[in-house]
This record gives sequence, C-alpha cells and structure tokens, in this order.
Amino acid sequence: MDLEVVTVGTELLLGFTLDTNAADIARSLASIGVRVVRLTTVGDDARAIRGAVSDGLHRSGFVIVTGGLGPTRDDITKQAVADIYRAPLELDEDYLSVLEQRFARLGRGPMPESNRTQAQVPRGAIVLPNRRGTAPGLWLHGEPGSTVLLPGIPQEMRSLLEREVMPRLSRLASGASGEATVTLSRTLRTTGVSESGLADQIGHLDRTFDPVSLAYLPGLDGVDLRLSACQMTRTAAESALARAVDQLRPVLGQNLYGEGDVQLAAVVLERLRASAWQLATAESCTGGLIGAKLTAVPGSSDVYVGGVVCYSNESKARDLGVPEELLRDHGAVSEAVVRAMAEGVCRRFGTAVGIAVTGIAGPGGGSDQKPRGTVWIAVQRRSRVESIRRWFPGGREEVRQRSAQAALDLVRRLTD
Ligand code: ATP
Ligand code: MG
Repeated sequence: MDLEVVTVGTELLLGFTLDTNAADIARSLASIGVRVVRLTTVGDDARAIRGAVSDGLHRSGFVIVTGGLGPTRDDITKQAVADIYRAPLELDEDYLSVLEQRFARLGRGPMPESNRTQAQVPRGAIVLPNRRGTAPGLWLHGEPGSTVLLPGIPQEMRSLLEREVMPRLSRLASGASGEATVTLSRTLRTTGVSESGLADQIGHLDRTFDPVSLAYLPGLDGVDLRLSACQMTRTAAESALARAVDQLRPVLGQNLYGEGDVQLAAVVLERLRASAWQLATAESCTGGLIGAKLTAVPGSSDVYVGGVVCYSNESKARDLGVPEELLRDHGAVSEAVVRAMAEGVCRRFGTAVGIAVTGIAGPGGGSDQKPRGTVWIAVQRRSRVESIRRWFPGGREEVRQRSAQAALDLVRRLTD
C-alpha cells in the first residue's frame, strides 16, 4: 500500500520549523509495510492545501495531512479538505461534550468559543479522539480516496498516529484474508464536452461500475474521468477497472481522446502521421501555445512544420495573405478572417493541414457582438476548411489555454 503525506504550515516553508512530522510518519508506516511515496509541504493557504491533497489523492488514493487543525484563523486544513469531498462541516455533539469536559477538568474556566470549531466535523468523517490536545484526528473516505487529518503539534500527531491510524492502516494493508490490497485507477481523458454534458452521457452507467468509483476531474484540457478500484486485490482491481473502461469507451465515443497522461497534441500528431499529412499553425490570441503543445511531443518535426504568431492585423495580412478588406469589414476576430488565416498558413508552409485561431482573450477588447472569450477556430484539411466559434469562460490565460486545446481537438475530430 502506497500513500502520500502533506504537511501544512507556513512556518515549515519559511524554515522556522523543521518538518519532523513527515519523517515520523514515513518511518512509522514503513514498519507496517506501508510506503510513503511522496512528501509535500504547503503554507497555510486553502488553495494550496486543496491542491496538494487532491493531487496526492489522484496519484495514490490515500493522503495523510498534518497541521492546521487548530482553533485559530490560520488553521484551515479541515475546511480545505472537506471541500474536496464536498462534505459540509457539521457540529459533532459527542465531540463537543468531550471538549467541554476536558476544559472543565483542566479548571481553566469556560471553553473559548474558538474551540467549538474543533467539534465541527466534515459529514461522514470518522473522528479520531486526541488524548493530548483539542483537535481530533479525522478520517475521510470516499471519492477520490481516503484522507487522514492529524494535528500539527508533533506529540499530538504521534499519539494519534500510533493509537488510531497505524492499527487501521495495517489492517487495510494486509486485507482480511492476509492478501495485500491495493488501490488502482485508470484515467480516461475527454475534451470538447462539459462536465454536465458528460454526466448526461454516462451518468446512467455510474452504478453499474460498482465496486469501481468514478470521479469527474475538469481542467483546462477537458474533463478527465478517473476510475478507481479501492482496497481490492490487484487482480480483482485490474479486471473491475477493465470492465468499467470497456463499458465507457463506446458511450464516450469521439469525446474520448486517450487514457492515462496522454496529451491531445500527441494524439493529433499520431493521426496526421498515419495519413502522412503535415501541419502548420497560425496563432493570434494563443500566441504560440498550440505550437508549444505540439513541439512538446518528442518526434513532432515530421508532422509539425512550423507556424506564425500573427498577433496584429498587419501580420495577418503580410505574413498570411489575409485580405485587408476582410480584416476591415469583419474584424480580426471573425469567421472570414480565421478561414483566410488557415488557408494562408497552409499556402505559406506547403502543408495539407493548417490550424488558425483568433479571439478575444480579455480582459479588454470585448464588445456586445464579440464578448470577451469569443474565439474563432479554423482547420484546413486539403482544400476543405472547417470553422467553429466558441465562447470560453475565465480569465485571459484560461481562454488562451482552452482555445489551444479546442483547436487541436478540431483537428482530431476531423481526422478521425
Ligand atoms: P493544534 O490544533 O493542536 O494547535 P494544529 O493542527 O493547528 O494543532 P499547527 O498550528 O499547524 O497545528 O502547528 C502547531 C505546532 O506544531 C507549531 O508549533 C508548529 O510549528 C508545529 N508543527 C506543525 N507542523 C509540524 C511538522 N510538520 N513538523 C514539526 N512540527 C510541526
Ligand atoms: Mg499551523
């Protein structure tokens, strides 16, 4: 069994506190046959915590987090992790009375209001009692995996680790039969379809995957579908995953472009290579992002010849031969211009296939007819040109990234 550890605390990043928790956990778990495969440290920042924990879950399905469970404002780990599971925080009456009794016993007067927050527990979490302090440990289980939250104070962390966490982990690691159990997953990559569009397409299958669980992971490249078989023997997990993938493939159809960490640019290059077609790019608002994605793939030079970053109107006219009257009459972000760009770049580079993109990435430059996020994409394939218009949400970088991905995706769909 493999897992990751995330330690939280700006003091760790600043070097004021040495991260002894991570080392303690790694050492202790090794002794029960559990491997820590990655250590990550982040500051007291909700986004950073969420990112680190969810990355860890997606890689290994199990994360132990320490730090930031205290009652003060900088202690935000619990909320950040609850967000990943979409679990609301709810008052745990039992734990609240444990806390109140503890304060009464210590004879330090009434419990400070801020300690009440420590009895707030993400729905569904197992509460691991803390004998040495006020913040309980928490064990969350679900999609996309299991997360154990432990307090940052080293003595408290160690006590919880030994009493509550290690016994459970060693049971999980060996399984009831004594055979090792594993968490395996496979990722199917889709693009050109929204998360809700996908849910409409495949939602009815959800239950049939049991015991494999399905997570939707939207990002700028599209929506990844992560299938996980948790805590099963390796053979059982592998065949359950294979069954689920076989069910999904035909339903996803063209929206599916690959599996694992495959990049869309690599898929496009492979398709074009198979037809012995070469490719050139004409990029305005993406400023070379498509070229960057293509050239990131080793061995792309037999297919990808080159491109033009034609950001200004002058460049579109001079470098690609876009007629000036098209630019004047329709504007640079228009169907007429994007088609002329695709034709121009194929002519210029002598390729069978050309991609062209022109759009308004924002934050300025939008109008009522052409709001920010309006992007025209054209693909020329031999003598045929296909053009599409898209409206992408988000800031400048998001619009640019989504445009680049959508342009590559149009090539893929046309060469299917
Ligand atoms: P509590 O609620 O019990 O106060 P907490 O979860 O809020 O704990 P923090 O406030 O993050 O924990 O840290 C408490 C103390 O523990 C700090 O002095 C901090 O420097 C120390 N500490 C936190 N994380 C680590 C770590 N990874 N290794 C060693 N010491 C740590
Ligand atoms: Mg802290």
